[in-house]
Amino acid sequence: MINPIHRGSGMTSERTRERLISRLRAEGIRSRAVLDAIRATPRHIFVDEALASRAYEDTALPIGHGQTISQPYIVARMTELLLEAGPLETVLEVGTGSGYQTAVLSRLVKRIYSVERIAELQKLARRRFQELALRNIRLRHCDGGMGLPDYSPFDGILVTAAPEGIPRALVEQLRPGGRMVLPIGIGQDQVLVRVTRTSDGYEKELLERVVFVPLLGGTV
Ligand code: SAH
Repeated sequence: MINPIHRGSGMTSERTRERLISRLRAEGIRSRAVLDAIRATPRHIFVDEALASRAYEDTALPIGHGQTISQPYIVARMTELLLEAGPLETVLEVGTGSGYQTAVLSRLVKRIYSVERIAELQKLARRRFQELALRNIRLRHCDGGMGLPDYSPFDGILVTAAPEGIPRALVEQLRPGGRMVLPIGIGQDQVLVRVTRTSDGYEKELLERVVFVPLLGGTV
């Protein structure tokens, strides 16, 4: 990738974006705030220039290092599930990847911490946030499976790579009443889960089937 910040062409026009919004509505995304945040976030700058013309299709796309930018429907759905009970101040995202989900969320919360284990992806994401003048995002290069204890508790946590089960360290970094949305499972056998921290543990809701890259340990 030579230049991560490219301007796009006709294929990235307002009309193309508006079609994506209509599609997300048809797929059941109800939150106007979430749809507005997606409308305001140019997805084509989060993918390689060669893929820019496909950026407003409702599909996951490769971002290098064997990783993918999530499908817009999934980004919208997870964001909606996280924010359903009302506005959140501080959110932790595990798996910055391209930074697209981070950018969408940054428009809806006061401050977002996002962690990524692949340094090169984090570097590209940082440049995109600068380009978009998104200033409430704090990035860390680390293994997010342990969360970010120094900045906890969080009102919300969103995980964009799948652990096999619910990571206890992350639940412990939610404030009581706080919510975490994450995929759990192995390979194609994954389900989206919403966890709500209670005074003495947590409750979980199993939602739809999803496919994410696995949550891995260590950093590169
Ligand atoms: N929300 C991102 C999704 C990227 S894919 C987007 O839409 O672009 C998931 C990302 O999680 C990958 O970039 C992967 O490197 C990262 N990841 C996987 N395991 C991780 C871990 N333990 N800690 C931090 N990041 C992790």
